[in-house]
Amino acid sequence: MRTVVAKFGGTSLASAGQFRKIREIIDSDPDRRFIVASAPGKRFPEDIKVTDLLLRCYDAAAAGRDFEPDLALVQARYQDIISELGLDFSLEADIMALRERLRTDPQRDYAASRGEYLNARILAAYLGFTFVDPEWCVCFDENGALDAALTRRTMGAALRPLNRAVIAGFYGADMSGRIHTLARGGSDVTGSLAAAAIHADLYENWTDVSGLLAADPHIVENPKPVRYISYRELRTLSYMGASVLHTDAVNPVSDLSIPINIRNTDCPQDPGTMIVRKLPTGETKYPIIGVAGRVGMSVIQVEKVMVSDESGFTAVMLDMLKNRQLPFEQCLTGIDTVTLVIRSDLLAPCKEELLSEIHRTLRPDYVGLKENLSMIAVIGEKGTDVCDSNVRVLQALTHAGIPISTINQGAGKLNLLVGVPEEKYKDAIRSIYATIDEAM
Ligand code: ASP
Repeated sequence: MRTVVAKFGGTSLASAGQFRKIREIIDSDPDRRFIVASAPGKRFPEDIKVTDLLLRCYDAAAAGRDFEPDLALVQARYQDIISELGLDFSLEADIMALRERLRTDPQRDYAASRGEYLNARILAAYLGFTFVDPEWCVCFDENGALDAALTRRTMGAALRPLNRAVIAGFYGADMSGRIHTLARGGSDVTGSLAAAAIHADLYENWTDVSGLLAADPHIVENPKPVRYISYRELRTLSYMGASVLHTDAVNPVSDLSIPINIRNTDCPQDPGTMIVRKLPTGETKYPIIGVAGRVGMSVIQVEKVMVSDESGFTAVMLDMLKNRQLPFEQCLTGIDTVTLVIRSDLLAPCKEELLSEIHRTLRPDYVGLKENLSMIAVIGEKGTDVCDSNVRVLQALTHAGIPISTINQGAGKLNLLVGVPEEKYKDAIRSIYATIDEAM
């Protein structure tokens, strides 16, 4: 028997109707043995996530304001689900305990964690599975940081003896029993930790889209879904803003080469996206899997004749950034130039003094600052040396009359990164997508 860990996100568990859908999904494959549950999310665009309602309760309690109206909304969300599913499940004691904690000792993470706690208990009752409280097996250290190694051992020991279980996502506890939550969207991470702990064959992440798309659908009309993507390619896509899966959810499973399958609860027939280390045999490796980008970049360009012969010039520049705890996106060096790409919002507070320090310390021939730039990543582990995709990308931009400010590709050939003016960002994405469409 294979073991599949299936995590269902907030929209997949937002109402009784969604609970019914996921029961069908779980029943259709007996390998789906470990289910990780989020708190109820939005049922419609203006709806409020239960986690946000709970945080409002906490904010009110901590400020000495009345939290009862929001607590009543939380209770009503769960009661609707319970009543519609016809479950014999009472919330009274849990809501009372939460009310008491908010009144006497309000703690932010504890309040937020109750969203997953209650939803997972209801789901476990509905499915007839064992409920697993991550308070006992998702381990945080005394500073509130996740202890992934200890979690793997503890979760493994907790889950292995069980046949089928529902685990609440998003939180855990430290040795003293204090509850800590992961970052928002953290149930993805709980799912990944569970999959790693029991060496699952597959980690399914059920959400409200049929996987990753090859481009932003707000820019490109009907972009192709991505069928296979490597962990490394996914990392770039996430970095560039794609938010289907929490970034921290990749490492626990990628270390063990456990594939992640992004699936759509509303369209379970769609195969979704498989995130893998290596493509299964017989599948075609496309040199490019998509295009994504970010606006709000600045470029500092420094020129000095013979800089390439001068040892330490770039290091001094990078030290200036380090001293200001200013991260950079890219550092490109040429014969007589060094170019730094930096996020504009991070550069803004120290822009003037950084430029003048460069002048003072390095005495360059020229220092320039270009703002309002966007950075576009053409993503793909370009498996073959004969691949001409870079040529086509640059040609497409040139034909569309889009000036290219920077070009960067490391020896790993993972991404081609091109900088273009912000006002040309969408045109650039569209023309690159059009040219790589048939290569995907
Ligand atoms: N409920 C939490 C949130 O809204 C965690 C999650 O859904 O993964 O961020």
